[in-house]
Amino acid sequence: MKIAQPDSVVEQLSPAVVEFLKAPAMVIGTGSVPALSGRTYPVYDPATGRILAQVPAGAAEDVDAAVTAAQAAFEGPWSRLLPTQRQAAMLRLADLIEANGEELAQLETLNNGKSIMMSRLLEVQGAAEYFRYMAGWATKIEGSTLDVSIPLPPGMRYQAFTRKEPVGVVAAITPWNFPLTMAAWKVAPALAAGCTVVLKPAEETPLTSIRLAQLCLEAGIPEGVVNVVTGMGEAAGAPLVAHPGIAKISFTGSTETGKLIGVQAVRDMKRVTLELGGKAPMVMFDDMDLDLLGVAAGIGSFFNTGQTCCAGVRIYAQRGVYDRVLDAVAGLTRGLSIGSGLDPRNQINPLVSARHKAHVQACIARGIEQGAKPVIRGSAPADGFYVAPELFVDVRQDMALMQEEVFGPVVTVTPFGDADEAIRLANDTRFGLGASIWTTDLNKMMRYVPRIQAGTVWVNSHNLPDQNMPFGGFKQSGIGREHGRGALDNYLETKSVCVAYR
Ligand code: NAD
Repeated sequence: MKIAQPDSVVEQLSPAVVEFLKAPAMVIGTGSVPALSGRTYPVYDPATGRILAQVPAGAAEDVDAAVTAAQAAFEGPWSRLLPTQRQAAMLRLADLIEANGEELAQLETLNNGKSIMMSRLLEVQGAAEYFRYMAGWATKIEGSTLDVSIPLPPGMRYQAFTRKEPVGVVAAITPWNFPLTMAAWKVAPALAAGCTVVLKPAEETPLTSIRLAQLCLEAGIPEGVVNVVTGMGEAAGAPLVAHPGIAKISFTGSTETGKLIGVQAVRDMKRVTLELGGKAPMVMFDDMDLDLLGVAAGIGSFFNTGQTCCAGVRIYAQRGVYDRVLDAVAGLTRGLSIGSGLDPRNQINPLVSARHKAHVQACIARGIEQGAKPVIRGSAPADGFYVAPELFVDVRQDMALMQEEVFGPVVTVTPFGDADEAIRLANDTRFGLGASIWTTDLNKMMRYVPRIQAGTVWVNSHNLPDQNMPFGGFKQSGIGREHGRGALDNYLETKSVCVAYR
């Protein structure tokens, strides 16, 4: 079933979704399997709080089976394919993602809670396009020829060149906020490079990752190339990271988990990229285009109900525009409609889980306790995992609301005097993932972009990553970059070859 009109309401679930929810299984080697222990755990519909499906509770023995399958595929059929054949397989997969688009979008919204419009446009269409983009790189892997000056033994000459070779089996571990997108960001470059993958999706949102692995098989990608082990972080993720058959770990998630994974990776000398948390500032100068405030709050701050690693949750407005910024953002926040993601008119959707709802509520309560002033107090539906959007002023820089990830629809607005103060405040967290500057002055933009400590700085926009733009964090927001040509290098080893001749 092709993707429906992005803004159409889901009146009835697709029969394929209903069927899939009966028994989602892991994908290891030849096909769908339960956990070897036979154990399952529930995943929920955040809009109702009800159980959506039972999913296999994977553990070390399932991880071992998946890594074994991935190793066999790496040494066998996948490495024998020509780059053009890997490319063609990835393009077929992209077509299949679109052909099954409405089913995938409905699954994503049911499991994560997000707007169906976002599931259709970003998760599904975005994933298909990501596989197409990365498929293009499969045929463009190249080393270089190197002139060398080795003098011995006399009479011999040398020519060196580099080869780029796939690193091996990749452990891909993803978070719950963009389940299909995050899976695509890892699986696509790994396949383009010639690697095989064991994907461990977030325990809350494994459904579209399972479906993606099924579609890989349908696309003719050999069995064992893409495997999915579902389960908890400690039970399934930790043994995957520690497995000796894993050559490279690609992780997106919280900074706390990222540190644990980084330590384990170094212990085993595994290659590792870490895409971690954020607390993005939006710096608004007096000369900003005020017509863009709707974009700033709508896309920058409240996009995906604030569950975005780059969400612009710390707004700093220069004193000359502070009142207007606050009024506009407050007005927009008040006007946001809250409800199920199956109706795309709802702009604030449930949070992913009861646990995350409790975390966001605790952050709000602590902020108020520490003296932050709420500008608006909305109300949210009682059933499901909803939290109404919140806007705070009088938030000191040392408060948790300013320093720690809330990862929900909670935004602060703070005045500043001059640019030096703004830059100091913007940089004053342990994170450095995304940031934005809002100004109509080109000179100001060029002067201050280099002083912002963040992996991506948007100017007059926010929160819009692109497959061709390197993406990753400064400071405790991570190590390495995804996207673009560079993403492929995360999955390749460089081998120098030196040839002697007379
Ligand atoms: P999380 O760290 O709790 O979990 C992420 C993944 O790690 C899950 O699959 C989880 O099961 C697994 N995991 C947990 N403990 C593990 C362990 N000991 N060993 C191996 N795996 C383990 O993060 P989350 O709550 O799912 O996601 C939200 C976080 O992700 C936020 O901090 C957000 O900023 C971050 N994030 C970052 C980016 C980015 O690109 N930088 C993108 C999206 C989300």
